[in-house]
Amino acid sequence: MAVSDHVDFATFMEGVKKRNPGQTEFVQAVQEVAQDIFEFIEDKEEYHEAQILRRIAEPDRVVSFRVCWEDDNHNIRVQRGWRVQNNNAIGPYKGGIRFHPSVTESVLKFLAFEQTFKNSLTGLPMGGGKGGANFNPKGKSDSEVMRFCQSFMTELYRHIGPDTDVPAGDIGVGGREIGYMFGQYKRITNRWEGVLTGKGQEYGGSQMRPEATGYGAVYFLQNMLKHQGQDIEGKTAVISGSGNVATHAAEKITQLGGKVLTMSDSGGFIHDPDGIDQEKIDWIKHHKTHTRGRISDYADHFTNATFHEGKRPWSVACDLALPCATQNELNEDEAKELVRNGVQAVSEGANMPTTLEGVHVFHDAKIMYGPGKAANAGGVAVSGLEMSQNSERISWNHERLGQMLTELMEGIHGKCVEYGDDGNGYVDYVKGANIAGFKKVADAMLAFGVV
Ligand code: NDP
Repeated sequence: MAVSDHVDFATFMEGVKKRNPGQTEFVQAVQEVAQDIFEFIEDKEEYHEAQILRRIAEPDRVVSFRVCWEDDNHNIRVQRGWRVQNNNAIGPYKGGIRFHPSVTESVLKFLAFEQTFKNSLTGLPMGGGKGGANFNPKGKSDSEVMRFCQSFMTELYRHIGPDTDVPAGDIGVGGREIGYMFGQYKRITNRWEGVLTGKGQEYGGSQMRPEATGYGAVYFLQNMLKHQGQDIEGKTAVISGSGNVATHAAEKITQLGGKVLTMSDSGGFIHDPDGIDQEKIDWIKHHKTHTRGRISDYADHFTNATFHEGKRPWSVACDLALPCATQNELNEDEAKELVRNGVQAVSEGANMPTTLEGVHVFHDAKIMYGPGKAANAGGVAVSGLEMSQNSERISWNHERLGQMLTELMEGIHGKCVEYGDDGNGYVDYVKGANIAGFKKVADAMLAFGVV
């Protein structure tokens, strides 16, 4: 008979810190999840005995590799690439690829860990993974990006497959990069198969995938508001970022009668008191993805708007806040300012954009707060649907996928309420998402025995 290793939360976290030195983002993500899980499994000895939480917080594997490529001036450049395969208990590893100079093993481990719970919440059979490289696509020519993507895939292809691990896009990896990587995978393996999602519509991509994360974050917000008898119509929204997630979140807010006041990039934010309507959103989309320009140019083009260099948008008074850029972009002081200015709900399009201290501010003020792992799960959910369509060699239309996305987000919201309702009318969506996401993965792991 095994002796149960029933450690408390503090001892558990001490171990995580010790085993992952310097990996602050990863430790932060584990801490946020573990405090809810510890409460949930307190009286559930089977999870302790099988060391389930410790096993989920240790990736199945981390592959690290060199990516060599040649720039347009014939200089040899060396970058580091990774694929973190966190957990495949409920399906093949699934999660995006990020190209950004800030990418480290810690960042990718945190993202793969979060992805495991997020994917579980969707109800689809997908495990959790994440990958990327410390490569900066900004300022690179198309040919340079192509050569980098091909070199990256020349190593990655051995670790992925439609039933093994199915990467997608993330920061710095959009349709162009997915195309270059898919082309290289096909060339090396001589197989056309659904090994990546977020593909172009011409070669197996799903309709609604580009819109899914941003739209989904707004549907989640809509569900939170509805739960309290409210809606988006007539409300003001502050959004950070101006990439895929941010622009589609802005689009859906506008469609539902809200008014978007800000967008940002790593250079600062623009504030448009007239509201960023569809025409302006289309301008931003084109400017960021085709011209590859900066958000500051918006204020030159739409002259009622102002640009705030090096600043984040959280000081602008609003009813709704949607952080859609990157991790840790909304801190404790900024959360306090949002609350002071009357924010009613926060829905995270980005992954872990709010610091732990910021999350506490929202909870203490009883603000509706939808964490990324629930609110932005629409993207991976439609990726899951892309996998199904590729396997069956079929393609569903926009309308059908839109309906499925709406239902998936409603389902995720429902699971969060089931496990996060405090009985007094307040829903702790972090707790709800953590527990619902954990339970499915943990029960599958129990079924496998010690592996
Ligand atoms: P994009 O590359 O399309 O856009 C990222 C945006 O965030 C850009 O506006 C970028 O500005 C800004 N940004 C990036 N890093 C920083 C930084 N350090 N400080 C300030 N701004 C920054 O990425 P996505 O829109 O796809 O992803 C945004 C977030 O959403 C990420 O957290 C991602 O993990 C998450 N997410 C994305 C999903 C998807 O389907 N794409 C799915 C689920 C989550 P700049 O142009 O200056 O770099």
